[in-house]
Amino acid sequence: MIFYKTEEEIELLKLSNELVAKTLGILSREIAPGVSTLRLDKIAEEYIRDNGGKPGFLGYDGFPNTLCVSINKQVVHGIPSSYELKQGDIVSCDCGVLMNGFYGDSSYTFSVGTVNTEVQRLLKITKEALFLGIEQAIEGNHLGDIGFAIQKHAEQNSFSVVREMVGHGIGRNLHEDPQVPNFGKSGRGLKLREGLVLAIEPMLNLGKRDIYQDADGWAIVTADGKPAAHFEHTVVVRKGKAQILSNFEFIEDIN
Ligand code: MG
Ligand code: MG
Repeated sequence: MIFYKTEEEIELLKLSNELVAKTLGILSREIAPGVSTLRLDKIAEEYIRDNGGKPGFLGYDGFPNTLCVSINKQVVHGIPSSYELKQGDIVSCDCGVLMNGFYGDSSYTFSVGTVNTEVQRLLKITKEALFLGIEQAIEGNHLGDIGFAIQKHAEQNSFSVVREMVGHGIGRNLHEDPQVPNFGKSGRGLKLREGLVLAIEPMLNLGKRDIYQDADGWAIVTADGKPAAHFEHTVVVRKGKAQILSNFEFIEDIN
């Protein structure tokens, strides 16, 4: 069932997503060689609680932490651990917040120090694909237009799109209908209407698109072991131009 949001509900969603955006901004200052991913998780949890939110992922389906931290060949859903970041890693920090009954959800893939040029290009293209997908989230378009735009940009640049993991509606629940695939055909699928709130989250692999689930029951990993990138925004379908509720300003201001 799809829940279209009122303007009042969208205001609350904006507050939750602002807190996610600020949390990712705080994390961007901490990411450096030698920092454990569990340390990042603690920083995020404290910051969210200090600012009146609850970690949105903690306990969700039994997820044990605040952040999903996915390194290199991990695509999404990595569990924070004692692993210490090292020069050349890429690290996706996916953050969810629950506040005033509404969820925020956004993700950014950071470089640790200098990463090789092909991996830099993967990050750039994945982020571009996110914004190309968002451009399609306007009233009168179809859900397939979002996936089509993302897939086209990925494949034109010789990267592959993960099929099994998708974006989603978001609101009082972290995951609502509809599913938002990062591939598709333009003009197909649900017709988009103002007030639909979507988490759009392309996951692009440097190598082949195949993935598997790690033995820990959570982390999704590329089958060929090559790096993957993941960027996510929560957006409102509007007439003419989508409204982005999360933002990367707190990250990119200081990088
Ligand atoms: Mg997310
Ligand atoms: Mg999401």
